[in-house]
Amino acid sequence: DLYLPLAQADEEVHNIIEKEAWRQWSGLELIASENLTSRATMEANGSFLTNKYSEGLPAARYYGGNEWIDELEILCRKRALEAFHLDPAKWGVNVQPYSGSTANFAALTALIQPQDRLMGLGLPDGGHLTHGYYTAKKKITASSIYFQSFPYALDPKTQLIDYEGLASQARIFKPRLIICGASAYPRDWDYADLRKTANEHGAFLMADIAHTSGLVAAQVLNNPFEYCDVVTTTTHKTLRGPRAGLIFFRKDLQNAEDLEKRVNEAVFPACQGGPHNNTIAGIAVALKQAASPTWKKYALQVVSNAKALASELVSCGYKLQTEGTDNHLVLWDLRPTGLTGSKVEKIGDLVGITINKNAVSGDKSAQTPGGIRLGTSALTSRNMLEEDHKKVAQFLHRTVQLSLQIQKEAGSKLLKDFVRVATGETESAKAVKQL
Ligand code: PLP
Repeated sequence: DLYLPLAQADEEVHNIIEKEAWRQWSGLELIASENLTSRATMEANGSFLTNKYSEGLPAARYYGGNEWIDELEILCRKRALEAFHLDPAKWGVNVQPYSGSTANFAALTALIQPQDRLMGLGLPDGGHLTHGYYTAKKKITASSIYFQSFPYALDPKTQLIDYEGLASQARIFKPRLIICGASAYPRDWDYADLRKTANEHGAFLMADIAHTSGLVAAQVLNNPFEYCDVVTTTTHKTLRGPRAGLIFFRKDLQNAEDLEKRVNEAVFPACQGGPHNNTIAGIAVALKQAASPTWKKYALQVVSNAKALASELVSCGYKLQTEGTDNHLVLWDLRPTGLTGSKVEKIGDLVGITINKNAVSGDKSAQTPGGIRLGTSALTSRNMLEEDHKKVAQFLHRTVQLSLQIQKEAGSKLLKDFVRVATGETESAKAVKQL
């Protein structure tokens, strides 16, 4: 059994993988947090390295046999610093986090004490769960269970980060940590302003650039490393690597040695066990690509495609949050159409367009979000250009028109009735099948 290829060893799993590969390549992948990673990265990720235990750090492991793993981890760290144009005298990086969420929790563990105060962008305004999210009823994530958190928000008029509001709330809340970065924010960040606010309270400033790290590496967005103490990222979104996380930490602060030690110990043993060395190999391969001369071209194209997608949707009469984008992401406000994000996401699935429902600024409930989040990283990886993205916007327009027709026939606000009509024997169901 050890030597059989997957297709022979396990036909069921093999077939599922084949079906998913077909779904990814035959449809239009517009999920802003996804990308299509390279064959080389996937090869590294599915390699012999998966067999090895290597708790600890290079040259300080709890297991034998780590000669090559040490070489790999050192190479991966070097490439991470190179890809983000960082001076190894000033910045260090831990490449072991299993994902963005564990990277963030490890960073919080390193920077502040249990029950210390932190501020992050609220989830309904585009922030991530791990930035302190809680609801009126419940503390939802470890970042609000083990720390006291308070969300800052968007300015409802401009839908941009309300930096002044954040500064005045911080004067009352007195955070020990301010987190910037988002999962659904189509504009760039003013890190200098956030640094000023953090300094007023002697707080750490952490940027979570999970979504935009591929664009930050290409220097097509503002540079968080200039102002932040710690920068975390996932490796699988615009950065186009395997699913994992990275934590960058400053080495030139007062007590910097202490920060390096705290970050490394927060990852292991505080939050994780043995590193996933196969993934670290995949990250190293992706980082080499992100440091190559062609990467900037890719990143510029991602942004230019997002702008083309946004402007075509606007010409179709749609409303976008902030009316456009600076990055890979477009936040489409569907509320004026009377449709919810869930319904359009469903019809998208039926017609081979993969999108996700998302809250838009001012939504009453995060449970029934009024928008759709779109991203251009994956289609740009397939060499699609501005004209292609305009065509994609037209497909999205048809998807919405169809959704409106189905909603009319369903005669109910319920998603299950909507789906019944969309997949049944109705006229609109036939139209779905033809689209
Ligand atoms: N941080 C941000 C800003 C994200 O958007 C995400 C995921 O979407 C994460 C962290 C979490 O990453 P993961 O899903 O790898 O845990």
